[in-house]
Amino acid sequence: MSLARLTQLKNEVAACTRCGLCKTRTNVVFGEGNPRARLMFIGEGPGRDEDLLGRPFVGAAGLLLDKMMASIGFNRNTVYIANIVKCRPPGNRDPQPDEAAACIGYLRSQVAIIKPKIIVCLGRISARYILGTDIRITRDRGVWHEVKGFWILPTYHPAALLRNEALKKDAWRDLLAIRAKYDEICSGGANES
Ligand code: SF4
Repeated sequence: MSLARLTQLKNEVAACTRCGLCKTRTNVVFGEGNPRARLMFIGEGPGRDEDLLGRPFVGAAGLLLDKMMASIGFNRNTVYIANIVKCRPPGNRDPQPDEAAACIGYLRSQVAIIKPKIIVCLGRISARYILGTDIRITRDRGVWHEVKGFWILPTYHPAALLRNEALKKDAWRDLLAIRAKYDEICSGGANES
């Protein structure tokens, strides 16, 4: 059921022209993973590699995200990965507010279909559009927010960890917190690796 609804939504998004990013994209990057995942990772938008392949987090940052997930017992078959905007902002710039506003309804629909219990915001842009504009990732990462039944945690984007190794210590703490929260509220779940 979730898979059918996600597929229907994916087909709709594939033809989307709601914002100007449709003019420069190669592929729409809808998202991927387990349609019944209890843990969902949300980034800001596709980069060059993602745009070319039409899949989320497949470049260097994606490889690191894979390792981060594996370190706490998850993989792409047990979580769901998506972005705030589904088309690449040119030059990897931040998505503009009007682009995010045009696109975020798709993410809301994905969340409504998948119904994750835990949402991890990867980086400042993701956290701001999900939790509020006053979020500062260095100050607010690692703090849980319980919103409308979801447990939401902002943490560093893997690209930030590639740029600055010193951030990895805090990122590791956040990963352990994600695992602990999962074990606390999702124990016995069908989606564990
Ligand atoms: S970024 Fe989102 S709203 Fe804009 S064209 Fe792509 S799918 Fe549509």
